Amino acid sequence: MVTQLAERARQKITAQGMDTINPEQGLRLLQELLEQKETQVGVFPVDWAKFPYPSPFLENVIPKTKSSSSSEFVQKLEVAKVCNRQTILFDFVRSQITKVLGFSSPELIEPSENFTDLGIDSLMAVELKNRLQATLDRSIAQSIVFDYPTTLQVLVEHLLGEVLALDAPPEKPTIELKQVNQTLLNAEVVLHSDTEINQTPLKPEVEIPAQFYQFSLAPEYLSIRHDIEAGQKIGNPFFKAHAGIAKDIIQIEGRKLINYASYNYLGLSGETKVAKAAKQAIKRYCTSVSASRIVSGEIPLHQELEREIADFLGTEDCIVYIGGHITNVTTISHLFQKNDLILYDALSHNSIRQGCALSGATAIEFPHNDWQSLDRILLSRRHQYEKVLIVVEGIYSTDGDIAPLPQLIAVKKRHKAFMLVDEAHSIGGLGASGRGIGEHFQVSRTDVDLWIGTLSKSFASCGGYIASSKEFIEYLKYTAPGFVFSVGMSPPNTAAALAALQLLKIEPKRVTKLHKKAQLFLQLAIERGFDTGDSNNSPIIPIIVGESDRAVQLSQLLFKRGINALPMIYPSVAYNAARLRFFISCTHTKKQIEFTLDALSNEISKL
Ligand code: PMP
Repeated sequence: MVTQLAERARQKITAQGMDTINPEQGLRLLQELLEQKETQVGVFPVDWAKFPYPSPFLENVIPKTKSSSSSEFVQKLEVAKVCNRQTILFDFVRSQITKVLGFSSPELIEPSENFTDLGIDSLMAVELKNRLQATLDRSIAQSIVFDYPTTLQVLVEHLLGEVLALDAPPEKPTIELKQVNQTLLNAEVVLHSDTEINQTPLKPEVEIPAQFYQFSLAPEYLSIRHDIEAGQKIGNPFFKAHAGIAKDIIQIEGRKLINYASYNYLGLSGETKVAKAAKQAIKRYCTSVSASRIVSGEIPLHQELEREIADFLGTEDCIVYIGGHITNVTTISHLFQKNDLILYDALSHNSIRQGCALSGATAIEFPHNDWQSLDRILLSRRHQYEKVLIVVEGIYSTDGDIAPLPQLIAVKKRHKAFMLVDEAHSIGGLGASGRGIGEHFQVSRTDVDLWIGTLSKSFASCGGYIASSKEFIEYLKYTAPGFVFSVGMSPPNTAAALAALQLLKIEPKRVTKLHKKAQLFLQLAIERGFDTGDSNNSPIIPIIVGESDRAVQLSQLLFKRGINALPMIYPSVAYNAARLRFFISCTHTKKQIEFTLDALSNEISKL
């Protein structure tokens, strides 16, 4: 069974400190055990450092101690307003199911979806039952998931009413005031009636655990503190301040290193013309526009930059935001709502996931680059929703591979969906003249509804853009919260991006150079036997080295040799697929690339 488990399920087992037993070992152990007297024996390889303790897995062999967090949770439910209890319990149960299924986000579980359709098998059902029992501190039937509450919603109601005996909310306990003007305020205001406030039982004697009001004790903080301390033991590779410009060379701790850790793909950050444009903008407008553009923060440079990007890509219009991350978050969350569906690639960037989570739409991850799976999901679900959005990236920054855009567009058209393509890493670097994945595949600009890109990578600045139809842009300019309620791009940043784009237009050979350097790096890496995954035609080349420790160690060894390449480790990538990522710039030289790969070969052979 275990050999047939999906990679995700297997990673989940190892992450919990348990390993698998190969058939030879298993048979040998079985023989040994058959020769002994015990009738019930469990054998499993355990890494005790990772094994969760107290563990629901061992609950029947370890004397039961009353877990303080369990009663705390029930206490929290007891003191909560009656109308909030269901939500608190719902969030908790959904988070537990997410963990059991190994899903990336609770939003993937719909309240009315059948547990069997979600893929809960009998082992997972036992794990879920154990988790619920441990926190709710009540005995729960072994078969709870299969017997009768077959969906999340029903299970929560069952737990609240039958198991915890805490009443479900009365029919209409609250007066809800919903902001009608969704365009200007995307919030929901809920007021509770005086009667309800008066009827809420007062429990002043209940002690509130310190972790809820002292952040130094909050579990999320303690967890990151633990990771930082562990990282410091082997050398924390993060937050290393550098001096000077980050190009093919970077200066860190007084040393000059060959740099593969910045996204200055076209070498435009550091160009005299770009810096000059930024300085002139400072002279004219100083450093900030100090207000949202819709009120008093607009300057002609904003309009020029938007026109330039729209013309460069061949779209009707464009809007720029102050960051690439906020561009995704605010656009996705604002354009899609409760009755909509968003399907996003499994390797999607955090900003896309955040946008989905805030939108209130149903968000489903589809397997990476698998347009056939996407098609199947839409075949079964499209009719249940109003608007549907498909989100993909041009070049994926974890693997350096490219989305199969023509096939994805065909699926989008077939199911009458919208499509957003995040070109953070493909704009400037992909396509003969740097016009991104659309140019690479020669698709029509209008086949994709929303082209988003960042100005922080190829365009030597800071910010993000959406290039799209005049209707989308007009709507976003008057209503997108991250635009309307935030300041306009700073004058020097706007001018730098504009100058970088104009320079790229007259110097397309930067793109050709980048392609050549990336091709050289890839070819030499493959010749040396490195695992470069699916990277192709892209300036992002991973070298996959196995477990996290190996990647961190190699990064440090390269650093000592004068090379700056950062590791990417679990959980950002699969447990045994930790890697060093190399971001190539058109300014890298052949000599630098050869030196780097030779150094890497040498260090790997010594590990
Ligand atoms: N989208 C993707 C795919 C990204 O990789 C990033 C950041 N690297 C962003 C959006 C956010 O861009 P920015 O860093 O410019 O905010």
